[in-house]
Amino acid sequence: MLELLAGLGAAALITLLYYQSTLIPLVILAVLFLVLLRFTGMKTPRFNTVGQVTKVKEIGFNQIGGQEVAKKELLEALDFVTRPRLIRQMGIRPLKGVMLVGPPGTGKTLLARAAAGYTGSSFVSVAGSEFIEMYAGVGAQRVRRLFGTCRRKAANEHRNSAILFIDEIDILGGKRGQHSSHLEYDQTLNQLLVEMDGLGGAEDRPILVIGATNRPEALDPALLRPGRFDRIVQVDLPDLEGREQILKLHLHNKPVCAEVSVQKIARETFSFSGAHLESLANEAAILALREKKKKIEEKHLLEAVDKVIMGEKLERKPDPEELWRIAVHESGHALVSEALKPGSVSQVTITPRGKALGYVRHQPERDYYIYTLDHLEEKIAILLGGAVSEQLVLGSRSTGSLSDFDKAVEISKKIIEAGLSSLGVVSIKELPGSLLHRTIQQLVGAREEWVTKLLGQKIGLIEKVARLVLEKEKITGETLRRHISGYNRAG
Ligand code: ATP
Repeated sequence: MLELLAGLGAAALITLLYYQSTLIPLVILAVLFLVLLRFTGMKTPRFNTVGQVTKVKEIGFNQIGGQEVAKKELLEALDFVTRPRLIRQMGIRPLKGVMLVGPPGTGKTLLARAAAGYTGSSFVSVAGSEFIEMYAGVGAQRVRRLFGTCRRKAANEHRNSAILFIDEIDILGGKRGQHSSHLEYDQTLNQLLVEMDGLGGAEDRPILVIGATNRPEALDPALLRPGRFDRIVQVDLPDLEGREQILKLHLHNKPVCAEVSVQKIARETFSFSGAHLESLANEAAILALREKKKKIEEKHLLEAVDKVIMGEKLERKPDPEELWRIAVHESGHALVSEALKPGSVSQVTITPRGKALGYVRHQPERDYYIYTLDHLEEKIAILLGGAVSEQLVLGSRSTGSLSDFDKAVEISKKIIEAGLSSLGVVSIKELPGSLLHRTIQQLVGAREEWVTKLLGQKIGLIEKVARLVLEKEKITGETLRRHISGYNRAG
């Protein structure tokens, strides 16, 4: 439709130019065209079609930190591209697609690019969202064109193969029949399936399709059927070692003080993705530059951790009464945390950042993949420490505990779902709402009682730590622990 409109417009313009000497009809025509676009809700035509190739810098697998399992699995799969003759001799069905599955920013695009470098293939990259238009048939046509582009690019670059990377493949390859405008979605996916089925013959230049998604459950099962995306490679958030490697990679081109312990920073960044770590390294360099320092120091990296987690420091200043409440609240979290796990607090601050007015950063001594009931209950206790502290010191609570309670409820639900509550193994979906609510109340209530008893004996310490935090705005875990032991010795 859009193509038709553009064609008609161009023909009319040429005709008018030929017969008219003034520009007025041209202007009228342009205005009419824009009005038409606006009223039909059409997007402005994009003349850059999907799969148009931009030059991307080649990267190697050694420029990707961590992800050892993903790299190994991908490299195994790539043997199909690098040793086609052997694969054929062995009668092995050629591999047509690899699906990279994992959270955003974990390096899926990097892996696909490295795969192209490793196999000496041409690389064409597209996003699933580029295919879907309002008009049935446009997406399918784009998919057809895209495979042609891959073949042409490989031939022009004298490469033996091409890698087609489709990011956000869940948009293009979601379960069929689920979209309101499903004709367009379904036709596009069908075309992709047809193109993939056509791959793997005696082609001169094989095409390997690498898809990436963070919503594998949304994919149409036909896409994951053997013979299409044969390999599913999990690309998870990096572990401690992976985070250290990624940080080193991104600090490599920056001046960093010799005393900086990258491992320490890696320990502070549990659940960061590669993209977060890249941003951390960048922010640290910006902070050092702002302070007119020649090299990045540890404090810059630690502050960058806060910035990546919580956002930019805010200028807004709560009034002194609010500040005191925030300091009491944060001290409560920190003291419960230290009582349960000495050495666990990394920093207590009342600097407002993002949505938080203050926060306590914890230092996981190792990465956790599964949690015990004790661990989850401890987390709830730490979350409740803020509100209980306010109650004990100030005699009232505030809305500052809202997100703590949300998290405590979420953890309680996890306990129930995992069969760790008094209900035993249950399906949370089948549970009557009132019973779910009561069980959450019991779980949270028991922890609240425990925290109230613990902090009730430490009101003086809460006030002492809160005064210090109020004065300094930010204290380290070491300073906190010095004060706790001083208080305990004196007491
Ligand atoms: P999305 O799902 O959002 O498309 P992605 O998984 O494809 O994300 P990438 O685009 O590959 O993530 O990564 C984004 C940026 O994060 C990279 O350009 C790189 O700077 C950094 N990064 C991510 N993972 C790694 C890693 N494992 N090693 C080094 N850098 C990484």
